[in-house]
Amino acid sequence: MKISYTNMRYTKQMIGILGLAVLMSACGGGGDSDALNNGGNASTGPGTGATVQAPDAQIVAYLKSSNIDFGPGANGRPEGTWRWPGTPDRHIAVYLPTPAAGNATEVDYANKVTTSVSLLNAKLSGLLVLDLTATRPASGNFIQVSYLTSWVPPGSTDYASYCANVATGPNTGSMIMPDASNGIFSAPVYVNLGNGHCNVTQDIVTHEFGHALGLANHFASFGDAPANAWTTAYFDVLATLYGNPPSTPAANIVVKRAKN
Ligand SMILES: [Zn+2]
Repeated sequence: MKISYTNMRYTKQMIGILGLAVLMSACGGGGDSDALNNGGNASTGPGTGATVQAPDAQIVAYLKSSNIDFGPGANGRPEGTWRWPGTPDRHIAVYLPTPAAGNATEVDYANKVTTSVSLLNAKLSGLLVLDLTATRPASGNFIQVSYLTSWVPPGSTDYASYCANVATGPNTGSMIMPDASNGIFSAPVYVNLGNGHCNVTQDIVTHEFGHALGLANHFASFGDAPANAWTTAYFDVLATLYGNPPSTPAANIVVKRAKN
């Protein structure tokens, strides 16, 4: 009986943790599913995102659910879109630490970041530029890539579901948030890749940059469906986010399409 009671308590505790995990997943991309981990394992090539021709209304709906409706009033922010400020051709520094000598895992992750950044820059040409640097910027906000610091909920051994996340720091599920003027309230923004017990794929890396650019919640073309770490509609949503001024309400969004 004692064992049974202990197990019951453990189960209740786990339910609480899972509840938190779902919340974090929905808000910060903490949970990137097994399906995502199994797709696009090749270390070369841009990944395996499917072609999805989403109509304008669908792009607006995705942007609304993922970004506009996230954290209403957080930090006193106005309604509308939130993102890295400046438009168009916003430059965002991406600090990619030089892999430790002889560390094949870090080399692999760094190569995948370089590939994903090239893909994003091509797709979002004219709207934003991600500038890779091996030197930590001394000032200004930036994205920091961090190796093997993906957040795994306390008590969880589901390493595959928490293979990567975007957060305010390493080893945390604390989401990046909008600031008072619909910029990004985290300096820097961490892209945590890997936890030592999972496979960081090219598609996961491309997906995580979407979180770092302001897509908070998953949607059908962004992590919500099996094997959909991203689709081409994901880039259209990002192009629309960066092709409209910050604080644009959903009703005023003009859909922009990513480059082919
Ligand atoms: Zn995600």
